[in-house]
Amino acid sequence: MSIEKFSLEKVLSVHRWTDTLFSFTMTRPAHFKFTAGQFARIGLKIGDELVVRAYSVVSSPFDETLEFFSIVVPEGKFTSNLQHLKVGDELYLEKIPYGYLTLARYQLPLPQDLWLLGTGTGLAPFLSMLQDFETWNNYKQINLVYSVRTQAELAYVERIQEIAESFGEGHSGFKFIPIITRDPEAALHDRLPVLIANGELEKAAAMQLNPETSHVMLCGNPDMVEDTKEALKARGLTMNRRGEGNIAVENYW
Ligand code: NAP
Repeated sequence: MSIEKFSLEKVLSVHRWTDTLFSFTMTRPAHFKFTAGQFARIGLKIGDELVVRAYSVVSSPFDETLEFFSIVVPEGKFTSNLQHLKVGDELYLEKIPYGYLTLARYQLPLPQDLWLLGTGTGLAPFLSMLQDFETWNNYKQINLVYSVRTQAELAYVERIQEIAESFGEGHSGFKFIPIITRDPEAALHDRLPVLIANGELEKAAAMQLNPETSHVMLCGNPDMVEDTKEALKARGLTMNRRGEGNIAVENYW
């Protein structure tokens, strides 16, 4: 990995949600331009080696700093080092962003209702999209669906409300739909494919998934992405290819 491809940035803040979930912000160099939904490649010097991992950007393309949301992977080389991050530490940032989980990829159907379905840290790209006024201008209805295992892992809830109030001011079509799969008391606690098949997700959103109008993005656990994709296809939705179709996906590990 050639070090010239990276700039060296400073950590500005660290927020710990649980023992294994944390967010951090860092300086954003002027050359680092990205579209909401894209990911950055972040490098850590571990011994003599530059170890690099992909992280979706949480912050808006218009923010002066960059924010990321991370899980600590047990015995993971990168995150077990990253979890000790503190303000003032330095991180390497690859100069260009990557990824196609962006709203610009959709041409047909035209934007009407947007379903953002994420698990765990797969919430990140959706937070970036929701901090872009274009998203709110383009879609009549936006359903943010966030599946986690436990209540404690439901990060960013207050921020989601703040974002909806500021970016979605005057917009009447936003729904935040949390799913807590290991809490039988939670209003929604089944996995996404089950909730799609039994109609509970649509009931919570008060609208139907529709091949003629829906844009559906999936991000997070690769098994969730696979299984949910199949559940959506069973409802007549199609993969988005060359701009056409409903479903766009990003696996997280
Ligand atoms: P997770 O196990 O991915 O669970 C998050 C949510 O996804 C839960 O609601 C879970 O439901 C649901 N889910 C899991 N499989 C699903 C499927 N097939 N269909 C629909 N929903 C599904 O939790 P996490 O905390 O985000 O990650 C947990 C593990 O993944 C950790 O052990 C971590 O090390 C690993 N991980 C690795 C990386 C990496 O870069 N290598 C990155 C992130 C996470 P249930 O409660 O029913 O399982």
